[in-house]
Amino acid sequence: TQRVFSGVQPTGGLTLGNYLGAVKRFVELQERDWETIYCVVDLHAVTVTWPGREKMAAATRELAAAFIACGLDPKRSILFNQSQVPAHTQLAWVFNCVARLGWANRMTQFKDKAGKNAEKASIGLYTYPALMAADILAYQATHVPVGEDQKQHLEFARDIAAKFNLDFDALDFFPLPEPLIEGAATRVMSLRDGTKKMSKSDPSDMSRINLTDDADTIARKIRKAKTDPEPLPETLEGLEERPEARNLVNIYAALAEVTPGAVMAEHGGQPFSAFKPALADLAVEKLSHIGTKMSELMADPAEIDRILGDGADRAAAIAEPVLDKTYELLGFIRSR
Ligand code: ATP
Ligand code: MG
Repeated sequence: TQRVFSGVQPTGGLTLGNYLGAVKRFVELQERDWETIYCVVDLHAVTVTWPGREKMAAATRELAAAFIACGLDPKRSILFNQSQVPAHTQLAWVFNCVARLGWANRMTQFKDKAGKNAEKASIGLYTYPALMAADILAYQATHVPVGEDQKQHLEFARDIAAKFNLDFDALDFFPLPEPLIEGAATRVMSLRDGTKKMSKSDPSDMSRINLTDDADTIARKIRKAKTDPEPLPETLEGLEERPEARNLVNIYAALAEVTPGAVMAEHGGQPFSAFKPALADLAVEKLSHIGTKMSELMADPAEIDRILGDGADRAAAIAEPVLDKTYELLGFIRSR
């Protein structure tokens, strides 16, 4: 059986990058009738800074509301926040002892997020990939839909699964999870810098489109998006050396659910003064109902908490036996 797991950090409102690279695909997998488990990974969200008590709770509820507004159905999928299921951190400890220092030292996300003075980064940020491996493997998940930037962490999780299975003679107890990185928008770039990925924690709000942006804001951000002065090329090949133009074409393709080639067939040769308004109209058409639905859902925080609690119960029912079996393989005595 196929089991999907993925998570998003409550580090800020969802961006178009999170939507196209992750959440939109979570919904597609739910429609495929696979077993789907989606998590607001609050434990990961404290690795860089403390958001503060109120902000953390609000961001968690907002992200849960965004998941549902995008089409996740808490009855068909399991939807919960990570810290309510202790098996994640319990398994993460074991995986901290499976993973090697050399593996962690190669992680580019740590380098990006720690910045110049890595001595000041938290140890949690450093061991983040072990917790992420635990998130996935606690459910023995087989497939993980993520954006391109998470590919390296997925490989880390696969290495942990393989080494654990080998070290403990456990055959294929932990499946090697397959990354699902598909479509035209696996790496949506910043609207201000075509070489940087769009992030919800980027200091510049103009760098991203948020799912809560209203129609005017979406249109303004697209109009002001950085581009070169040339019109769109006639063909896909012409986009190769033009990261900003390519990014806008990829966004268009993912929103319209067509290939980038089809976008070029329709819009190739147009100046940005024509292409950007077309993209803005499409983005508003596809996104504005999500923001509206989110506001409705957030009017009832108690209901969101109930959904997360119910999801956590169902998640724990899967993860706890996996943790028990892991401890048994390690020879930890459990006598109470
Ligand atoms: P942060 O800056 O706090 O890390 P983020 O925007 O990178 O925030 P995450 O919670 O780290 O968001 O990632 C959630 C999911 O969104 C992951 O699957 C990640 O690969 C995907 N994702 C993040 N940014 C992009 C992007 N620009 N394009 C496509 N997918 C993305
Ligand atoms: Mg990220």
